[in-house]
Amino acid sequence: MGHLYLHVPFCARRCSYCDFSIAVRKRVPAREYVDAVLRELDWLRNSPGWVNPGAMPRGAPWGNAEPPTQVTGADSGLDTLYLGGGTPSLLPADGLATLLTIVRDAFHGTPSLDAVEVTLEANPEDVTPDNAVAWRRAGVNRVSLGAQSFDDRVLRWMHRSHDAARIGDAVVNLRRAGIANVSLDLIFALPAELGRDWARDLDLALALEPSHLSLYGLTVEQRTPLARWISRGAATAPDDERYAAEYLQAHSRLATCGYRFYEVSNAARDGCRSRHNMAYWSGRPYLGLGPAAHSFDGRARRWNLAAWEAYRRAVAAGRSPVESEEGLSDEQRELERVYLSLRTDEGLHLTAPYRLLPSLTVWAERGWVEVRGERVVCTPEGWLRLDALVGDLTGRHATA
Ligand code: SF4
Repeated sequence: MGHLYLHVPFCARRCSYCDFSIAVRKRVPAREYVDAVLRELDWLRNSPGWVNPGAMPRGAPWGNAEPPTQVTGADSGLDTLYLGGGTPSLLPADGLATLLTIVRDAFHGTPSLDAVEVTLEANPEDVTPDNAVAWRRAGVNRVSLGAQSFDDRVLRWMHRSHDAARIGDAVVNLRRAGIANVSLDLIFALPAELGRDWARDLDLALALEPSHLSLYGLTVEQRTPLARWISRGAATAPDDERYAAEYLQAHSRLATCGYRFYEVSNAARDGCRSRHNMAYWSGRPYLGLGPAAHSFDGRARRWNLAAWEAYRRAVAAGRSPVESEEGLSDEQRELERVYLSLRTDEGLHLTAPYRLLPSLTVWAERGWVEVRGERVVCTPEGWLRLDALVGDLTGRHATA
């Protein structure tokens, strides 16, 4: 079964920390967007290398599979479909329904979306009762809600367009519409001068009983309002100590409520892990459609033109929307396998030469990893040092 990502690039405004490839629009050009995705699908199906994500290798991550099946039509089903952005919830409900119908029809092995994990990224202000009902009817069964904080002052600082009250309203509207699988995104490690109460935000998020939580530390990206504020002294850069303290605090707090971190930034209740994101972290192939979308066939990665207008013009002219691609060497694939495996609670399988490394013993003695049978798994303290651990393992690997 395959994994499909649809990138919807439109946002009502740019958040203060965001450097994603977005198109700020007061009115979302829904018809043009749906038409562009349809044209990209047509272009793909007429391409010699077209690989239906449903026909991609199964149960064989990390590119060790047999070559993907080359097919000229879509004849296999999807396991997951993820609409990310941007702000996909800005698409009018009828546009979203059309898009999902096109996708379902394109992948003939997907007779209904009921068995597919269909995730929509949504901003709270878009989750009206009518939209929630329409999304559910269209096939959406999981919503990832960009909550970020429950403090109105902090939300204004982030340039978010919702207030805290809208988050609770959105969760209620989704549940009433039959979408019980709701994930909340929160950002931590904000500048000290904001006086953000992280414990309060965690409590308010948990009170809504989401099935899943994604927690991201604030990073400063170039050419964002936040970077400009910091360069002129109007904000302070995120602080490593605060980052570590709030990260560990979240682990403790969520564990008391039955959530398990199954990846460095993601925690879920039993049975509520994101199947789509698990596919990324386990090195499985996926197809991406839309501007800036990435695809991976197990051996090579390619990505589309990032700017909406450039992408739209390319597909309208019947040209390739692909900006570039790179084949992964065996060494690159192994580095990714180590890095992504250690991000998850599955950890890294201790094949030679990793089992020989004395540094693993040191890491275990310091409580940064646990060795469980044939696997090494990061603790929360270890996840804070993930890059160092991967460098340690792969650097020694090269000379072992
Ligand atoms: S809503 Fe998301 S994608 Fe859009 S500007 Fe804000 S952070 Fe970026």
